[in-house]
Amino acid sequence: MSQDLTFDIAVVGAGPAGLAFVRSLAGAGLSVVLIEGQAETSLRDPAFDGREIALTHRSMRLLKTMGVWDRIPADDISDLRQARVLDGGSSFALTFGAADADRLGVLIPNHLIRRALFEVGEGQAGVELMAGRRVADCRIGPRRPRGRLTLDDGTTIRADLIVAADSRFSFMRDRLGVGAEINRLGRSMMVCRMRHDQAHGHVATEWFDHGQTIALLPVADPEQRMSSVVMTLAAPAIADLMAQSPEAFASSMERRLKGRLTGLELVGARHAYPLATTWSHRFAGEGFALIGDAAVGMHPVTAHGFNLGLRGQETLAKVVRGARGEDTGSGRLLARYQHEHRLTSWPLYQGTNALVRLFTQETPPARLARGAMVRAGQATAPFKAVVKRMLTA
Ligand SMILES: Cc1cc2nc3c(=O)[nH]c(=O)nc-3n(C[C@H](O)[C@H](O)[C@H](O)COP(=O)(O)OP(=O)(O)OC[C@H]3O[C@@H](n4cnc5c(N)ncnc54)[C@H](O)[C@@H]3O)c2cc1C
Repeated sequence: MSQDLTFDIAVVGAGPAGLAFVRSLAGAGLSVVLIEGQAETSLRDPAFDGREIALTHRSMRLLKTMGVWDRIPADDISDLRQARVLDGGSSFALTFGAADADRLGVLIPNHLIRRALFEVGEGQAGVELMAGRRVADCRIGPRRPRGRLTLDDGTTIRADLIVAADSRFSFMRDRLGVGAEINRLGRSMMVCRMRHDQAHGHVATEWFDHGQTIALLPVADPEQRMSSVVMTLAAPAIADLMAQSPEAFASSMERRLKGRLTGLELVGARHAYPLATTWSHRFAGEGFALIGDAAVGMHPVTAHGFNLGLRGQETLAKVVRGARGEDTGSGRLLARYQHEHRLTSWPLYQGTNALVRLFTQETPPARLARGAMVRAGQATAPFKAVVKRMLTA
């Protein structure tokens, strides 16, 4: 039966950004509704989706403060001690950190972070979860409560502040009339876990080979003989790999890895993600804000999307809490969030896109430039310090 309900804040999307934002409002005395298209069972116990999230130290601290960290099984957290960047056939590697030094960060399966985020928010005072329902329409009016959502079952929700956390292809963004730069890259990223003969030593490798990009990420495993293999190719080539039998796929990957890993064996399912980067023209306006991928959809190669989403929701929650019960949807208030989060995100978004452009171009000048960049980067202490700070901040 459809209803007409009123809350202080309505959050659309219970991905990591939406869940974290709701958690960050705990104790603020605000009534919040979280609307999610997926069923509650998929939020409570999300399936493995192939993503291994590289967390920065800042994100780790935040997840600890939120009580999320303690809910992630220690055996599933993989230390990242060293990162290596390889270019084409060259044996030279740009390295960050040392295999025996302090960790650069950690890798945690995405579904375990999502599960823990759901658990800490469950039963939070003032929060109502509406799962299995999608937003069908959204309007912002001139008077409070300005926001009006219509769900697919006819329910109407009014709120001072509408927060869109509904992914990089955000339906809410369109409905709110916010434009976005959307770059569909025509390439896909395939992720899966594979066992192998060699110990990974907690080293991550990003290999920009000619015509293919492969990342090998160390997975938590007592023998260190399992990695997450992240393969980027043109979309049809990824579709071909996905269709191969596990045995044929393992042989294909061994050929593509050119001897870097041997004895490969697929563990579990393969997942493919079409690649697109997005940048919203605005992150906030009168009565609304965009967070997570709905605000900025990063290329996964520099592993910043989740980390940025976590940071953005923290900034928005700080701004909203600062309103102390006043109009949380005030455009002037939300402009502070927009300003701060755009300043943080813009260099990472542009820097990552420039890196992707350089390392996926196969023209002779681009090849020369990338080889030179890898070598110069290794010899330039300030450059390495900047990249390391980006990884560990
Ligand atoms: C292969 C891969 C590897 C990655 N690795 C890293 C990494 O190492 N480090 C890192 O920081 N980031 C990484 N990322 C990025 C990270 O996964 C994303 O940035 C993050 O998941 C975005 O979270 P979100 O909550 O903004 O959006 P999403 O996770 O997309 O969640 C959006 C939610 O909104 C719901 N929804 C959508 N429309 C509606 C509607 N109309 N009504 C109701 N609900 C709706 C959806 O069902 C979904 O649950 C990776 C991404 C990929 C693809």
